[in-house]
Amino acid sequence: MEVDPANPYRLRLPKPNYLPHNIDYDKPVVEKFLKPLDRPSDMENAAYLNKIKRFAHEHGITKPKGYNVSFHYNPDMEKHHFGMTHPMKPWRLTLTKSLVSAYGMNFAMDNYTARAATYEELTDYHASDYVDHLATVAPQPQPLDIENPNNDLKYNLGGSDCPLFDGLYNYCSLSGGASLDAARKLTSNQSDIAIAWGGGLHHAKRAEASGFCYINDIVLAILQLLRVHARVLYVDIDVHHGDGVEEAFFSTDRVMTVSFHKYDPMTFFPGTGALDDNGPKNEVNPGAHHAINVPLNDGITDEQYKWLFETVIQRVIDKFRPGAIALQCGADSLAGDRLEQLRFVGAAPSVQMSVIPPDLGPIRDETEDRLREEYAERNEQRRKLREEGVGDRMEIG
Ligand SMILES: [Zn+2]
Repeated sequence: MEVDPANPYRLRLPKPNYLPHNIDYDKPVVEKFLKPLDRPSDMENAAYLNKIKRFAHEHGITKPKGYNVSFHYNPDMEKHHFGMTHPMKPWRLTLTKSLVSAYGMNFAMDNYTARAATYEELTDYHASDYVDHLATVAPQPQPLDIENPNNDLKYNLGGSDCPLFDGLYNYCSLSGGASLDAARKLTSNQSDIAIAWGGGLHHAKRAEASGFCYINDIVLAILQLLRVHARVLYVDIDVHHGDGVEEAFFSTDRVMTVSFHKYDPMTFFPGTGALDDNGPKNEVNPGAHHAINVPLNDGITDEQYKWLFETVIQRVIDKFRPGAIALQCGADSLAGDRLEQLRFVGAAPSVQMSVIPPDLGPIRDETEDRLREEYAERNEQRRKLREEGVGDRMEIG
C-alpha cells in the first residue's frame, strides 16, 4: 500500500504490540503533554502561558490537595474529518480544549499526550477481522447508503452514520489509546480522577460500528480497570443509551452498567434501554440485574435529573461497592445541545462565569463563526433534500 509520510491522515497499519517487560512501562508509554497551547510561535505560546498562569494564580486554580487529576488526550485527533455534513466534528475537541486551558485548568491537572492504542490492545475486545478491516479499508468519499438506502454495509461501515473517512484507523486508535492511558493512571495509583477527552464512544460493538462509534474505548478502559479492581461501575449520562458497553459486560457481575438516556423505541436511536431491561433474564446468569437503565422523556428539568441521578447512583454504589467508576460524559444530554434537546432549555444552568478568562473572547468568536457556518451548511443540505423531495434524515449519535 502507498503511504505518504507527509500526509498526517495516512493509514496506520496494525503493528505487533511490543512493550518491554522488565521496566515500569507506564512512564515511557504515557508522555507528558508538552505543547498544550498550539500558538504559532514559541514566543506567543510563552506569552499566552504567562497570561493563563496569572489568571490561574489570581483565581486560586491549583492542584487539588489529597487527590490527583490527570488529563489524557492527543491533539492529532482534531485533524480528522467525518465529512462535510456529518454532525460529529473532531475540531470541537480543539475548541473545548482551548476553553479548558483558557480557564487555567491545566494547572489543576497532570496533562498527558495520549499515545495510539496498539492493534493488540484494540483486539482485547474487538474482533481481529473487524480491526483488520478498519485498518485496511479504503476511504469512501460518499456514504454508501445515499444512493441505495438498503445497502448491506459490512460491519455497518461506510454509511452516513459511520463513514469511512481518511485516517479512520488512526482516529480510532488515538481515541482508544487516551482512555487506556487514563485507565492505567488509575490502576497504577498515579491518578484518582483521569479524564480522557476524546473518548466515550459507547455505541461501538465487538465487530460492528454504530452511531458514530467505531472502537469502544470505554470497554477497553474498563477491561484495564478489571485487572486491578474486583468490580467496576459504569455510569453513562449521554442522551443516547450506552448500548455498546452494556452489551460488552452483559453476562458478568464484575461490571454494573447504569445508563440515563432519552428513550423512545420507535424514533430515537438506538431504541434500547427500557426500564425493565436490567440484564440477562435468566437468573442463573451472573450478569442478571447488573445493567440498570433509566429511560427519560424530553423536558426533564435539572432538579429532576439531579434527584434521579443521586438517588439511583447512591443506591447502586451502596449495593455494588465498586473499586472504580467509569463515567461517560456525553454532552448531548445538556440543554441546548444542537443534536438533541432532552432538557428544558430555560431551566438549565449554562456556563456562567462572572470573570472571563484570558483570551476567551477570540475562542468564543471562533466557535460562533464555526457554528454559524455549520448551521448555514445544514440549512443548505435541508433545502437540497426538500427540493429533491426527500424528507429530513433522522440524526443519531
Ligand atoms: Zn450521544
